[in-house]
Amino acid sequence: MTEMSYLDGNMLDGPLRELLAVDLSAATGRCASCGMVGPMAGLRVWAHAPGLVGRCPSCAEVMLRLVRAPDRAWLDLRGATYLQVPMPTAEPFPRPL
Ligand SMILES: [Zn+2]
Repeated sequence: MTEMSYLDGNMLDGPLRELLAVDLSAATGRCASCGMVGPMAGLRVWAHAPGLVGRCPSCAEVMLRLVRAPDRAWLDLRGATYLQVPMPTAEPFPRPL
């Protein structure tokens, strides 16, 4: 891989903005612990922690943590192997040059 084969991370702004503006309750996630695939709306959420904690309905491991401060937020998805988000039909990323 040469230095000219990658782009600056600033190019992620548009694609991530499009992704994060959708209704994530319609997204499907895969639990990193047990492999269960299901809707994010099916997570069991604990709201009396310092943030929101979403646990897998199958194995109870943490799949999502969301902490909101007045001026920023932290999203921890390390308990999810992936998040599949329904999107309007468009050209997939990365777009050909
Ligand atoms: Zn699980």
